[in-house]
Amino acid sequence: MLTLKDIHKSYGAGSQKLHVLKGIDLHIGAGEMVSIMGSSGSGKSTLLNIMGILDSHDQGQYTLADCAIGHHLSERQAAFLRNQHLGFVFQSFNLLPFKNALENIALPLYYRGINRKKRNKLAEEYIERVGLADRKLHMPGELSGGQKQRIAIARALISNPQVILADEPTGALDSQTTEEVMQIFKEVNAEGKTIVIVTHENDIAQQTQRQIVFKDGNILSDSAPATPAATAS
Ligand code: ATP
Ligand code: MG
Repeated sequence: MLTLKDIHKSYGAGSQKLHVLKGIDLHIGAGEMVSIMGSSGSGKSTLLNIMGILDSHDQGQYTLADCAIGHHLSERQAAFLRNQHLGFVFQSFNLLPFKNALENIALPLYYRGINRKKRNKLAEEYIERVGLADRKLHMPGELSGGQKQRIAIARALISNPQVILADEPTGALDSQTTEEVMQIFKEVNAEGKTIVIVTHENDIAQQTQRQIVFKDGNILSDSAPATPAATAS
């Protein structure tokens, strides 16, 4: 599903240049649920952003769902690919504060040009899915952290992406709410979606099938290194 070969990424230039990813080789097969751990600054978010086509790599090859992701995509091409294949969940939820829960969930469909009636119908389905149908008209400021994250997950799911990328999705949540959010990820994974979770929490990593640990821009360990040949793409 996602294959990275010798991926490099640096920020800055000249003496300020920071080599963040130093030749990442990684294959994540369809339907895997994977966690990425590692110390702060080791490059986890940088890698996730490259996987999510939110940022570009400098060198190496990245293939997402059999599609080669070039180094210099236009924002329009990147947005098209993101829309088609990916859902995102962030630590800070990234909900629009002036839209209610249902409208936030429906946003990806709005960007796809889907009409209001269909958007509302699907958003109702997905809010139900994350157990928040009774909060659909609430604004983000009126929701708890865990509720906000469940709305964000519903928004990530509504366009039916094959891959969900989550950067510290439970970083701002207490342990009870963390469990609720992990439960949703597990259900989504059981339906066949590929899930990649960056986390600092060992408990979270242990709930995924495969744990990858990062150190200084390299993979330090991978509990189940999969070769592209051995895993369906
Ligand atoms: P954390 O666990 O704290 O979230 P991380 O492993 O996600 O850390 P990254 O955010 O990938 O780390 O950052 C890796 C390195 O790249 C850090 O030293 C960071 O300061 C630097 N960095 C990240 N984004 C940029 C950017 N846009 N411009 C310049 N440097 C950056
Ligand atoms: Mg990070």
